[in-house]
Parts: sequence; C-alpha cells; structure tokens
Amino acid sequence: KRKQIAIYGKGGIGKSTTTSNLSAALSDIGYSVMQIGCDPKNDSTTTLHKGKAIPTVLDTVRSRSNDFDKVIHEGYNGVQCVEAGGPEPGVGCAGRGIIAAIELLDTNGIIDDYDPDIVIYDVLGDVVCGGFAIPIRQGIAEQVYTVTSSDYMAIYAVNNLFKGILKYSGSGGALLGGIIGNSIKRIAQKDMIDDFSDKTGTNVIEYIPRSSTVTQCELDGVTTIEGAPDSQQAQIYRDLAQKIVDNKQKYIPKPFDADDLSDWASTWINRILTEEKVSSRGIQKE
Ligand code: ATP
Ligand code: MG
Repeated sequence: KRKQIAIYGKGGIGKSTTTSNLSAALSDIGYSVMQIGCDPKNDSTTTLHKGKAIPTVLDTVRSRSNDFDKVIHEGYNGVQCVEAGGPEPGVGCAGRGIIAAIELLDTNGIIDDYDPDIVIYDVLGDVVCGGFAIPIRQGIAEQVYTVTSSDYMAIYAVNNLFKGILKYSGSGGALLGGIIGNSIKRIAQKDMIDDFSDKTGTNVIEYIPRSSTVTQCELDGVTTIEGAPDSQQAQIYRDLAQKIVDNKQKYIPKPFDADDLSDWASTWINRILTEEKVSSRGIQKE
C-alpha cells in the first residue's frame, strides 16, 4: 500500500534538505519515491538533480501543454521529482502551485500511473491556509511530519500547524506522524523539543544535528546521502527513513494557547542560556 506523507515547517528550517535526504535514503533502501515540492521557490528537489532546477507544474499548465508526464523528472537513484511552482513574487496566491499540482497529479491519476511506494509533499507551511492546507484538510497525506529547530519562532510555527491539524482532525484530515528536530547542537535544545512534544501529546521521531557536511554537499548540488554516504549525518537520514516507513502512529496534537506557549518557552530559555558558553561578544568558541 502506498504511503503519502507531508512535511511542514517554518521557512528556512530545513524541510527541503531533510525531505530530499529522506527521499534519497528511501530509494537506497529499495522504495520507489515521489517527492513533490509545494513551494513557489521550486527548489525542493534541486539536490536530487545535481543542483539543477526542473520545470514546474504551473509552468506546464500555463504553457497549455497536455504532456503532463513532463512534470515528473527522475533524480538521484530514480526518485520521481515534481515542483509545484507558484506565481511571480507579489502576484497572486502562493498556494496556487500546490492546488494545481494536486489537481494534476492526484485527480488525474498521474500518481497512480507512476505508482510510487511513498509520496512525500514538502510544504512551506508557516500558516496552514489556502493551498498549503490541502494535504492536511483533504487527508491526501496520511501522516504529517514537521521539521523544527529549538528556536521559538520555529516552534511557534509548529504550534500553528498543530492548530490546523486539530481543526481538520474530526473530518478526515491528516494527523501527525511526528516531529523531526533539526539543526540540533545542544542537549538543552533537544530537551526543549522533547518537552514541547510531551506537552502537546505528540512525538519526536528523529533529531538531526547541525552539520557542515550538509552544507558541503548542498554546495556540490547533492544530498548528503549522495555526497557523503559514509558520514554519520547520512546514517541519521537513513535511520529517519526507516523509522518513517515503520511508523504507524497518528497523533491529534494538543496545541498551546498563544500566551501559554510563550510562558512555556520562557521556562526553557534560562537553561539554554546557561548551556551557551558564549564569549564576551556572543560568538561561541567550539
Ligand atoms: P524554505 O522554507 O525556504 O523552503 P526549507 O525549510 O526547505 O526552506 P532548506 O532549504 O532545506 O530549508 O534549508 C535551509 C538551509 O539550511 C540550507 O542551506 C540547508 O543546507 C541548511 N540546513 C538544513 N538542515 C541542516 C543541517 N541539519 N545541518 C546544516 N545545515 C542545514
Ligand atoms: Mg524548501
């Protein structure tokens, strides 16, 4: 049976990096994977294509081409890559690409034609509204995962996502598969995300450290799985991939009220500050 998941998180938090490494790792384990980038920047899948961009679904729709197979581009190890695309900055709704992509791929049966084992939607989801809510609202994804660091604004975005999941949970919406902690460097950061998951009745499926190997591979235009397969970081992405394959959990999150969330974060900040052994000008010496 096909597994469809959606990965949400604040802008710049590491969704596309994590998703592309996840897709690459899943394909290495032997699954056929389709990754659908739902972001107007259409850069979700570039490290699966040696750093090169691919034409988007919206481009194809705009050109009135009926050659819908053109929207699927094989990347690393046969991963099927799709970029939804979006309007020019400042013009129209950013969620249009995802609406067009889902219409084209799901409704027209293109996903069925390609028949991947796993479909992963990489969704820029600070705010779960309009097009960005579709994978959750319509239950297209069976599980939602969210990438977060321990930064307050990233957790704030996760809390908003949880409100969206909760809202549609009674009407067949997608539920939470787990939290993916990213860019973790300190124990206190990990503990803070753990505590957030406890308080919201959810679960952390993996912690991914901040690693310069990721940056190095990105600059080379490849995933860590492709560029540094023997690194510890690649092994962590492979562990995440296997855990997601095995994970059947579906959580209905219990989000914080806005005031309670900032109170909760305040209780953590002192511990994080004491762990930051900063120099006098605030820049850390490793
Ligand atoms: P957007 O919302 O713009 O789509 P995103 O959430 O998809 O952003 P990415 O593009 O994946 O974020 O990552 C942003 C930057 O952070 C990239 O340069 C990426 O290499 C870096 N990054 C992400 N995760 C890690 C990590 N674990 N270690 C080091 N660098 C990372
Ligand atoms: Mg991205």
